[in-house]
Amino acid sequence: MTYCINPDCSQRENPDNCAVCENCTTPLILQNRYRIKHPLQINKYSCKVAQKLVKYPDLLAVLGHYSSEATKQALSIYTKAGVVLVSATSTSDNLKSPFFFRTVPSDRMASHKRY
Ligand SMILES: [Zn+2]
Repeated sequence: MTYCINPDCSQRENPDNCAVCENCTTPLILQNRYRIKHPLQINKYSCKVAQKLVKYPDLLAVLGHYSSEATKQALSIYTKAGVVLVSATSTSDNLKSPFFFRTVPSDRMASHKRY
């Protein structure tokens, strides 16, 4: 199963052999390399999503989760599986793992005065 990257698509699930979404024709393979295997959503089920994702044998990294709380819930699952987690929105200083990276400053770094 490959999910359409278009969040407005009404039928996001596609077979793995499709290059474009069967519903909206949005390309399904990003940078000729990546497919969305499961969309991450803002919810309280990040552990269940993480447990499902780490079962993919060729999974290298996950982009997400949305909030620090969701990331905190799932981070130990990714760490134990050796899967890199990259978040663009999780800023909590309590998120620590050799497999966790973020593209935004942590809350502590953002609170420092810069001269
Ligand atoms: Zn679509």
